[in-house]
Amino acid sequence: MNHVLLNKLKYWLQPTNKIFADFTEYVVGDKDQRRVFIDRGADILFVAHIDTVQPPKYKRTKRTKAKKAKRLYVQGLDDRLGCLIACELSEQLGVDLLLTDNEECCRTTAQWHNYKQYNWIAEFDRAGDDVVTYGLDNPGFLNALGRHFKVGFGSYSDICDMETKACCVNIGIGYELAHSQDSYVVVKTMQEQINRFLTFYAENKDITYIQQAELSDQNWCQGWHCDICGIAEAEYIHGYHICEDCFCNVIEPVFTGPQSLQV
Ligand SMILES: [Zn+2]
Ligand SMILES: [Zn+2]
Repeated sequence: MNHVLLNKLKYWLQPTNKIFADFTEYVVGDKDQRRVFIDRGADILFVAHIDTVQPPKYKRTKRTKAKKAKRLYVQGLDDRLGCLIACELSEQLGVDLLLTDNEECCRTTAQWHNYKQYNWIAEFDRAGDDVVTYGLDNPGFLNALGRHFKVGFGSYSDICDMETKACCVNIGIGYELAHSQDSYVVVKTMQEQINRFLTFYAENKDITYIQQAELSDQNWCQGWHCDICGIAEAEYIHGYHICEDCFCNVIEPVFTGPQSLQV
């Protein structure tokens, strides 16, 4: 499978607009909202993003003594390797596919998509060999993931901006130095992660995992205490937990009031 998969990577090293043009019958939304969506009537969705920081480009292959590909040095593996894996696996397993744009500038077009009620959602957009859920999970989902993967911490990807109640996971696919000209994929790690994922998929494809925050019908920002007055109705703003009163009376005047101009 390795060999076939890595040969197919060449396709995914073309310009973003070329790929959108090739998938034109599956493109939803235009300009800043464009994404590719293939509806196979599935209960699971796979996700990756087409935009890259560096223009995609193959550089070189480091081989083992037995001449097997060990590392592929390729610009734009984040997230063209993810596109390849999501596309291939979704076809093989009959799963829905969403390929987004503008993830790297944190304006992912995933935010415009209208989601079906999925059992769970998997994205392939992470370096290394762990998985992250960004809190879009519940104990059962974390437990199921933990049986096959290391569970780590992450900051942002498409799944963070999706209007969905389904649990989400971002799978590490073995690349390193995501945004660098020297980015590479460790072939063995990629293969191991795909194998782990296939086992996870087989065990969990028919199970519905709803995000904990949705289960308890609680907004993610509720229940926090205000850093200033301590009242339990705070929201998370600019790195602080602040209630509405303190925001209006304490924070806003500091930034917008006359005092700030007098310094
Ligand atoms: Zn990415
Ligand atoms: Zn990135």
